Amino acid sequence: MLPEEIVKGVPHLRRCAKPSDLPAHLKTQFMNETPQSRQIHTGKSTWIYLILGPESMLSRQELATTLAIVEGVEEDVFIQSVPVPMVAPTSQVQAAMWSQHFWPCVYRKNNPLGPHPAQVSRHTEEIASDTSVWMTLAHQVANETHAAGYGEPMGACIVQREEGKTTIVALAGDARWHNQGKTGHSGNPMAHAVLRAISMVAQKLVKAENRTTETKVDPILEFEAFQDNPLLEAEQRVFELDHPNPDGYLCHGLEMYLTHEPCVMCSMAILHSRMGKVVFRHRMPLTGGLCAEDRGCDHPRLKGADGGRGLGLFWRRELNWSLVAWEWESGGCVRPLPVDMATHA
Ligand SMILES: [Zn+2]
Repeated sequence: MLPEEIVKGVPHLRRCAKPSDLPAHLKTQFMNETPQSRQIHTGKSTWIYLILGPESMLSRQELATTLAIVEGVEEDVFIQSVPVPMVAPTSQVQAAMWSQHFWPCVYRKNNPLGPHPAQVSRHTEEIASDTSVWMTLAHQVANETHAAGYGEPMGACIVQREEGKTTIVALAGDARWHNQGKTGHSGNPMAHAVLRAISMVAQKLVKAENRTTETKVDPILEFEAFQDNPLLEAEQRVFELDHPNPDGYLCHGLEMYLTHEPCVMCSMAILHSRMGKVVFRHRMPLTGGLCAEDRGCDHPRLKGADGGRGLGLFWRRELNWSLVAWEWESGGCVRPLPVDMATHA
């Protein structure tokens, strides 16, 4: 009677429950509903409660008629509506608590609200000791690009970590004002630090592929909009190094260190490039795409430019199964890089 996604959408609820498994308040309530129901709740009962679906999608009449033709179901089906948790519990303790308060629930060792805590703490441990190194580089390139007049003081650093060994893969500062002139608009969005850094990784892959196929296809750089050639000396030095793992897909499993929470466009670019981890320092409360609070889109400071909308792109299951993101607490080892709150990083 119900679409598949509704039926499969609640794997944390037990489909069937013996009368003895019901939460105490439901037992008491149901026991007094009909003359027969006291007997349903005795020790020898062979009755069973089934959870069927959201009340809004089922009419009582239709339900009774459909169930009545099922073998073994009484003509006069006992139908009640009870509140149930819509998302899965995040721990065994919560599952037990919900089973007592709502309906028998199962904990399936997943976290519907984001990556599993165990996964987060494992990754945190992995990157904790050298985050400040990559962050310092991102800050350095951010300061340099700003001083040179290329862009906002924002920077990105991409790192590969394999078996405890780290290799820097790309370093890029924001270049939105480069060849743009700084009046009347928000600069060149294709030159955001994140896009430049990802594009530099792509160019390294092209280089590596040319080497194996012994051809020489230059990366397509005729679109000036991309600004993905190194502009700063620091960018150039990293750009010249080979990609440490040219067989992988674009940024698969790599780490990205950012001075600022990326805008929605850059957040999606990070997801599509299959980045494994992102650490950013400054939260962009109006325009950032990674954090999930509802904020920004109607803020007067944005003047019609879209805000971050609290999309929380780092944990949207329908988009992503592996990216983990952190906001970095610097502990004061680098100076803060404030930018206008309406800026899309
Ligand atoms: Zn951006």
